Amino acid sequence: MAVTAEAESPAARFLEQPKRMLVDGDWVEARNGSTFEVFDPALGEVIAHVPGGDAEDVDLAVAAARRAFEDSEWSRMTASDRGRVIWRIGDVILEHADELAEIESIDNGKPVGIARVADVELAADMFHYMAGFATKIYGQTFPISVLYAPGAQFHAYTLKEPIGVVGQIIPWNFPLLMAAWKVCPALATGCTIVLKPAEQTPLSAIRLGELTQEAGLPDGVLNIVTGLGETAGAAVAAHPGVDKVAFTGSTEVGKLIVQAASNDLKRVTLELGGKSPNVVFADADLETAIPGAANAIFFNHGQCCCAGSRLYIEQKIYDEVLQGVSDHAGKIKLGRGLDPDTEMGPLVSAEQLDRVKGFLDSGEREGVRTVTGGKQVGDRGYFVAPTVLDGASPGNKVYDEEIFGPVVTTLPFKDVSEVGAAANETIYGLAAGIWTNDLTKAHRLIPQLRAGTVWVNTYNIFDAALPFGGYKQSGWGREMGEEAIHEYTETKSVCIGL
Ligand code: ADP
Repeated sequence: MAVTAEAESPAARFLEQPKRMLVDGDWVEARNGSTFEVFDPALGEVIAHVPGGDAEDVDLAVAAARRAFEDSEWSRMTASDRGRVIWRIGDVILEHADELAEIESIDNGKPVGIARVADVELAADMFHYMAGFATKIYGQTFPISVLYAPGAQFHAYTLKEPIGVVGQIIPWNFPLLMAAWKVCPALATGCTIVLKPAEQTPLSAIRLGELTQEAGLPDGVLNIVTGLGETAGAAVAAHPGVDKVAFTGSTEVGKLIVQAASNDLKRVTLELGGKSPNVVFADADLETAIPGAANAIFFNHGQCCCAGSRLYIEQKIYDEVLQGVSDHAGKIKLGRGLDPDTEMGPLVSAEQLDRVKGFLDSGEREGVRTVTGGKQVGDRGYFVAPTVLDGASPGNKVYDEEIFGPVVTTLPFKDVSEVGAAANETIYGLAAGIWTNDLTKAHRLIPQLRAGTVWVNTYNIFDAALPFGGYKQSGWGREMGEEAIHEYTETKSVCIGL
């Protein structure tokens, strides 16, 4: 097995160890004995073999989570103690920040410096933020009148109770951070978890499991089943012992999750695909807007569900911004994530490389003009050049569909109402960007945009306090902020006759 971390680093030592799944506090192999290969996408080499869990393992994990939910140290723990454990996990993550960033960089391909700030530190912050909510989950009292019971008195209130056992299925673009977005509110509310990381990038979730044990999370509260989507993931989504499933991934698989969960009407939250519009007005500060528009699409190699992949540029500055974004794209330094000079790594997998190349081919066939990029780079690993496509419009696959790679399409527009309509011509509604110095234009456009997040004069800004999620086929529900807490609780109305 090729170990590609810096020799002797904690990450290298972790990669050398056999990989197991976490079930009821024990590190176990898949019951069927199978494993699958995990690759370093910069080199195309196998870096780990990870248990190929399936329905049987999911059964055991769900049983452990149920026991932990109903009858364990966790269910008896005070909210304050629960908050302290969650906070400690955040601390332990930060103590291992360099190691986790290196693991993430090797497994996913992203630059290690980005992994450190955007993945590891934000993940730790999510634990710290949600720790505080453990003691702040409460219902309300209601002065009810009950017109048909004149003279009677009642005491009525609500309790906010944890949903129970939650299945959480996460993607490969921000593996540790997506785990944190899901695990933290579940823990804060007192739920227990079966986590299924993406098969492309399961390593940081395994390390997170070890760190939660170090922080004192009781056995069975967080179970981690590694395995393929169609087997382990599907088993989580369909399991009758799972009360809620939370999923982040493609809209296509999101629909399968809904179908599987409909058997027993389990609660579902979904954070799905996007094709986010990014609008540059002529009055914008172009020194900020041009690199901002480039980063909106090229950050994380375009592998962001909220990537600003449809760039709309006001007619009179069209050529200037198109040139500026293309120049920016052409200067991005591609390389292995562990190389400190690297600004953009490879795509996550050979499948994603094929998929993105398929989109580029379709653009070419349909006569869309490639301004820069448009091809694979090198013959080792899964690198694609940052790509700017001019003039794609509805009917072109590259304009209509989520590419999930470093590819942006550009179109000119004349005014606010034209661009508002164009921005919404998508099945998705995850995010949008606006670049302008005119408050009136920004405020006219913001309510027109059917998107869960609108960034103005900035892009890709995330914070544990700010809810994130989609309109339309970009999903159901919200992650982060107090809204995420509500997604993991049921409301119980209590009415006492006095
Ligand atoms: P992508 O296409 O970008 O790889 P997916 O939506 O396929 O994204 O994957 C996101 C997560 O969903 C991964 O953890 C994957 O294993 C899981 N998954 C894929 N297919 C299914 C399925 N049929 N049921 C449940 N989970 C699945």
